[in-house]
Amino acid sequence: MQNNSNQLKPLSSPQVAILGAGPVGLACAILLLERNPDLNLELFDKFQESNELIAQGDERGIAISEGSKQLLESIGAWKLEAPAIHEVHISQRHHFGQTVIRRDELQKDALGYIVRYKDIHLQLRLRLQDLQKECKNFNWQFSSTRSYFEGMPASTCCIHAEGGLFHEQAAKDARTDYGQSALIGWVQTRGVSEHIAWERFTSGGPLALLPHHQGKNARNLVWCASPERVEELKNLDSKQFLIELQEAFGLPVGEFLEIHDRRSYPLGLNIRESIIKQNHVWIGNAAQTLHPVAGQGLNLGLRDAATLSQCLGPVYLSMNDPQFEVLNQALVDYARLREKDRRATIGLTDLMARVFATDLAPIVIARGLALSILQWIPPLKSAIARQMMFGQR
Ligand SMILES: Cc1cc2nc3c(=O)[nH]c(=O)nc-3n(C[C@H](O)[C@H](O)[C@H](O)COP(=O)(O)OP(=O)(O)OC[C@H]3O[C@@H](n4cnc5c(N)ncnc54)[C@H](O)[C@@H]3O)c2cc1C
Repeated sequence: MQNNSNQLKPLSSPQVAILGAGPVGLACAILLLERNPDLNLELFDKFQESNELIAQGDERGIAISEGSKQLLESIGAWKLEAPAIHEVHISQRHHFGQTVIRRDELQKDALGYIVRYKDIHLQLRLRLQDLQKECKNFNWQFSSTRSYFEGMPASTCCIHAEGGLFHEQAAKDARTDYGQSALIGWVQTRGVSEHIAWERFTSGGPLALLPHHQGKNARNLVWCASPERVEELKNLDSKQFLIELQEAFGLPVGEFLEIHDRRSYPLGLNIRESIIKQNHVWIGNAAQTLHPVAGQGLNLGLRDAATLSQCLGPVYLSMNDPQFEVLNQALVDYARLREKDRRATIGLTDLMARVFATDLAPIVIARGLALSILQWIPPLKSAIARQMMFGQR
């Protein structure tokens, strides 16, 4: 059973301690326990939120890559309403250049899926609650204390998975405020193709229209612009909002009928250069927080969790606690294995966030050319699509 903050156990010395039970922390705990059900693992979260509260929580539509879907399926956490993306159309408003990526070009059933954050969160929690019944050394704690790792022995592997949104986080080693916020919501539509994701680059910032779990008459909207513009858009009456959305989007894809659940998120890049230090390791948004333009933050975080569990698995196979050097080597291996994928994903996302947020003529021309080149060089297009779907392996 889960412990609440009033029943917090005295400081223990788990073999592995995870701070933060968001999707990445939960996935990491599941993967570690599936490999080693006897592991002395402690998971520590800020909120004692019930499953019911989580089910009413964050409605944000998250683009889940094929690789992440496979991972979630493999750990029994993919029972989700998840509309598939069959085509991605990338283009710019008022300027030339377009790329269309189709699932058959990559010989896949789908290029990705859209799942609400709360659904991913809940499925992972349910799976871990299930696993908890079999794992006698697993301890799930809740408290709002911020000094959880203080006093942990050097033999404990301390996993930071406390994530967070860009504007809530302390600055890590490299931090860029893009001067943009994302307006999130969903649009009631008519006649819009069901499985197409549109990424449209406008003078204010990228605007994405994505499949929605309600099916053919609804679309997830992610509209990035200056914080002032997003505030203005958030407060417009629905009719005026839809007029401005149609104008900004500028493609005759169908009718926009109503906007729902408008919320905003400040956007930026916040990354740790080094993701390990002695017996500590950082994963998910605790290691890197990205602009959502390429839909990569959670996908990258799940790959962090998967690789970390692979590296730590052998360390805890015997009942004895490992030597510090053995744990340290596993973390060094982890950092090395994650380097290429992190660099590629962070670099690609940062490039897109910067290049598609400007209206400077030379850059507009260059990005139009880049989109056209991608369209005409399928191997290059496939290589980028594969990076987005599976990362670097
Ligand atoms: C607008 C927007 C759109 C996005 N779209 C996409 C997308 O399409 N595709 C994609 O892959 N990614 C997307 N992302 C990114 C994605 O949401 C994050 O990368 C992902 O949520 C990171 O998961 P996490 O578990 O690392 O962190 P979080 O989701 O932030 O979870 C962290 C958990 O740790 C807990 N916690 C925090 N501090 C403490 C503490 N001190 N002690 C204990 N517990 C603590 C929190 O309560 C929370 O449960 C988007 C982000 C935004 C803002």
